[in-house]
Amino acid sequence: MSGGLSGMFDPDRVAVVGATDRADSVGRALMENLLADFDGEAVPVNPGRDRVLDRECYPDVGSVPDPVDVAVVVVPAAVAVDAVREAAEAGVESVVVITAGFGETGGEGAARERDLRAVADEYDLDLVGPNSIGVLSTPAGLNATFAPTMALPGDISFMSQSGAFITAVLSWAEERGLGFKDIVSLGNKTVLDEVDFVDHWGDDPDTSVVLGYLEDVSDGRAFIETARETTGNTPLVVVKSGWTDAGAQAASSHTGAIAGSERAYEAGMDQAGAIRVETVEELFDFAQVLSGQPLPDTDDVAVVTNAGGPGVMATDAIGASDLSLASFAESTRADLRAVLPDETGADNPLDLIGDATVDRFRDTLDTVLRDDGVGGAVVIACPTATFDYADLAAVIRECDAAHDKPLVTCLMGGERATAAARALDDDGIPNYFDPARAVRSLDALARYRAISEREYDAPAEFDVDRERAREVLESVERRENNRLGVEAMDLLDAYGIDTPRGEILTDPTDAEAVARRYDGPVVMKIVSPDILHKSDIGGVRVGVPNDEVYDTFETLVARAHNYQSDATVLGVQVQESVDIDAGVETIVGMNRDPQFGPLLLFGLGGIFVEILEDSSFRVAPVSEREARTMTEEIDSAPLLRGARGRDSTDVDAVVEAIQRLSQLVTDFPAIEELDINPLVALPDGAQAVDIRLTVNPTQL
Ligand code: ADP
Ligand code: MG
Repeated sequence: MSGGLSGMFDPDRVAVVGATDRADSVGRALMENLLADFDGEAVPVNPGRDRVLDRECYPDVGSVPDPVDVAVVVVPAAVAVDAVREAAEAGVESVVVITAGFGETGGEGAARERDLRAVADEYDLDLVGPNSIGVLSTPAGLNATFAPTMALPGDISFMSQSGAFITAVLSWAEERGLGFKDIVSLGNKTVLDEVDFVDHWGDDPDTSVVLGYLEDVSDGRAFIETARETTGNTPLVVVKSGWTDAGAQAASSHTGAIAGSERAYEAGMDQAGAIRVETVEELFDFAQVLSGQPLPDTDDVAVVTNAGGPGVMATDAIGASDLSLASFAESTRADLRAVLPDETGADNPLDLIGDATVDRFRDTLDTVLRDDGVGGAVVIACPTATFDYADLAAVIRECDAAHDKPLVTCLMGGERATAAARALDDDGIPNYFDPARAVRSLDALARYRAISEREYDAPAEFDVDRERAREVLESVERRENNRLGVEAMDLLDAYGIDTPRGEILTDPTDAEAVARRYDGPVVMKIVSPDILHKSDIGGVRVGVPNDEVYDTFETLVARAHNYQSDATVLGVQVQESVDIDAGVETIVGMNRDPQFGPLLLFGLGGIFVEILEDSSFRVAPVSEREARTMTEEIDSAPLLRGARGRDSTDVDAVVEAIQRLSQLVTDFPAIEELDINPLVALPDGAQAVDIRLTVNPTQL
């Protein structure tokens, strides 16, 4: 890929390959859009025409006398790849393929898409699409799309996997006065994808917010890494669509059953520093406020209102968000008392009561914004006869200009309020009817401030025995299915995760001999690839004294055959006992997501994992900080840190085990899912007593 995508958004000359005069055609709509506002030159290319829309038309890109920066391809699918090649041979570096009929149609289309990728690779093309509605960039007046409207100028850049969504948004944004810098319809993402645009806009001084409508990400890891760079100084807001939990259905491990692609999406977007939204309304609410308002220094905010009810609604919404109600400094309260009538208190939310005038709004708003403990404010005004919305808007703009703090408003009136709100818009102050919506926008600013302050550190690299781990994984090739159980405990050992001593025996006498070498009673487990959950069939016995080992061995084997007469029994594991009563059973697991890759899970373990669903997720590899956060953010975290007079467990050891597992699953893409359940967190150390994993031998 050639460096930077500026050539795509700021070209001097654009060729429309497949341009035509034919009414209602895409080729004509594109030409018309380009001729409308573009500062550069739009050149029609079509071997079947001499002129298109009164412009000289060329038979191919190579015949255009001046250099072409971008070729927009709208020819039929059957000749699209040839058209791209011809443009590339003529020296074009950026190509937008509007033509559909590629991978999205399967079969022949998929083959065509491979050909397209090959041409793009050969010529190192920056290629958008295919199956895209095009690209748009307001500074150059470039509308290389077949959307019916041009965007208003602004500093929001927007990428969308749905072209139709762009056309809808353009009309809607125009009504709201929302402007854009660049818009790209990603189409099939054959070459350029969300990572490329997040990267490009992160370095673009004219983009202050990046928006995404994404149905999938092509490379989750690359997305996380690139987005982290960008979101340090440019907010990224993503609306999700079409992410389903289909992945969870095929899973055979606990982690797999809990971790669907929904969880991976949540974890991945969060680790990327993206702000996730559920609705289109929120997408643009957040875009507008992030582009128009400064970030709050603190999460404590003020509510200034002339009506009690809406003030309570705002307060409730603050309670449900990451924000809090600021408590005013004593000096602020004194100043407020001086400007407010006696019957009003000086507390937050600040109720100016029904007869509030514009002056009262100004004095109080100015006073609370001067308080260092106030990060920003919500101003709510219901219509009364004591003030005029236009005057109030002027006062709010004054306060907005005087203080570097975010303001959001709820001018809750009809037409007069709306007209005043348009004046606020000019200063980037968003106005909403619903106080809760105003609070959510303010909250988005606070959330983004926290993201921009994040520090990401590199995952630790432990000294491990990779070869030995590989040997264990390769043992799956001698299996009838691709699952491994406690016979793979060595895998953990190779990666430095502590396990109690244990051995798998095929003979009860040998089992007895091994048990005698261990201190105290042992634990015995059936080992069979046909038995997923050993204790479900009575296949685990704890506290077995030496003299019961022989009989227990035979009982366990009999139970396996009772459960499934032709079950393959690899033997019985004799394992040292771990003092479960002194510790906490946790689960550390991984389920590989098709988009984000290895998704780690940490939670309370044992038999309640799936019922409690008290778990934390991260895409691997994780840093020590992330691993520690996982142990802190589950609801039962206090259990690990010693609740109700119990000793605290060795959380550091758990944190290290998570990191080591993270390294293991990152090193071996062949591991599809893996559970350590339980990893027993003890007062001193953490012991993995059980493992279950699924291996994809083709990835080894
Ligand atoms: P499975 O999950 O297949 O039923 P496990 O090996 O996880 O089998 O054993 C089930 C339960 O038995 C564990 O959750 C734990 O409570 C207990 N257990 C297993 N191994 C040990 C051990 N070495 N020491 C103490 N308790 C154990
Ligand atoms: Mg288990």
